Amino acid sequence: MRITLFGAAGEVTGSAYLVTTPRARVLVDFGMFQGGRDDDERNVVPRDLRPRDLDAVVITHAHIDHTGRLPLLPKSGYRGPIYGTPASLETAELLLHDTARLQAGDVLRANRRRERAGLHLLEPPYTEQDVAETIKHFKALPYDEPMPIAPGVAVQMVEAGHVLGSASIKMIIADDDREKSVVFSGDIGPVGAPILRDPGQITGADLVFMESTYGDRDHRPIAATETEFAAVIKAAVARRGKILVPSFAVGRTQAILYYLAELFREGVVRPFPIYLDSPLAIKATAIYRHHPELADEELDEEHERRRLRQDLATLVLCETSDESRALNDIRGPCVIIAGSGMCNGGRILHHLRHNLWKRETAVLIVGYQGAGTLGRALVDGVNPVTIFGDPISVRASIHTINGLSAHAGQSGLMSWLAPLAATGPRIVLTHGEERGRAPLARLIEERHSIKCELPTYGETIAV
Ligand SMILES: [Zn+2]
Ligand SMILES: [Zn+2]
Repeated sequence: MRITLFGAAGEVTGSAYLVTTPRARVLVDFGMFQGGRDDDERNVVPRDLRPRDLDAVVITHAHIDHTGRLPLLPKSGYRGPIYGTPASLETAELLLHDTARLQAGDVLRANRRRERAGLHLLEPPYTEQDVAETIKHFKALPYDEPMPIAPGVAVQMVEAGHVLGSASIKMIIADDDREKSVVFSGDIGPVGAPILRDPGQITGADLVFMESTYGDRDHRPIAATETEFAAVIKAAVARRGKILVPSFAVGRTQAILYYLAELFREGVVRPFPIYLDSPLAIKATAIYRHHPELADEELDEEHERRRLRQDLATLVLCETSDESRALNDIRGPCVIIAGSGMCNGGRILHHLRHNLWKRETAVLIVGYQGAGTLGRALVDGVNPVTIFGDPISVRASIHTINGLSAHAGQSGLMSWLAPLAATGPRIVLTHGEERGRAPLARLIEERHSIKCELPTYGETIAV
């Protein structure tokens, strides 16, 4: 058996693993690279992938860095199923359509310039038709039950606690009369966060591919995170500023709403308007409502969910771009939640351009900011930053609250690994920059005497 990495090897985006057994070829995740200069050249189907010869594709969760290249597969001759949990597939459909629309817009703008310059015109990597074609291949898998997906290959989806529908995948491969099992962690969520269930326990693997996004640090505990969040909100409210929250449509948006509802209910701050400026996040939030079975205890009762809606009476949904633009003229205090999560596109860019240079503004960073993104520049204290080609001075206060992240910190990763490490598997660290995975590798070696492998793009792990 061989497993080749076509992304997320020494970086956080582009997750893709090709599993080749004597009887089958299976692809786990096919994500998009985001934030790098050479993304366009890398967001393709690698030659060695040979989509026509794949037996199955399975996704860990809906985020674009795990699914964004899927629409390239049917275009390149793939005819088989694309498996995922029901909530993942529903969400992926939304996110892929949105990505296709963004790409179409980008290409349209670029082509206007190129046409004037006499350059040849570009085409988007895929269109909404390609996405519609891709959706036809979607096939739902239940949690927890091992299901056959290709000759000699079964998978078990285990709750990963990262985003609605997220799973770690335990793949069981029958080889002659022996069985081997490989675990793909996907993105691992924190324990004890609101809304979602905690990550499940997995044991008994021969090989583990594990994410290492925050392998170098721990988040503050949830209680301290709530206090930190309340302090940032209170200070911004006192300045009557806008609080801008760049957020992925799925996952963090819902968690932020939950925490704000709590602040209002407990009287920490008087309710102020919350603008959810993302048609995508509005739709994604509806998917959360369709899946009460995936909610953790705090939200598993209908009256709890009703109370949450009452606490969020000041929530305003902004669907159209006119509604979004109207936010330029309103005054704080208010919260504006908009995508993209790493500020490398989307409506948040307009809000940053209009407000970063004002002292009363607060920017609340709640997700991982990949190298090369505007979000990372803000976290690193770059000033001024460039938005739509213009230099924008940063006078706003920038707050990073990692404890609100959808990713486990170092201790969370170690607890997830503990039951697996007990039987001494090979461990491959992926989905993390060097600064995340190198310290995690040292810690795993110290604690479990296992030397982790740290592959780069295109490398193959042979079993
Ligand atoms: Zn994710
Ligand atoms: Zn990811």
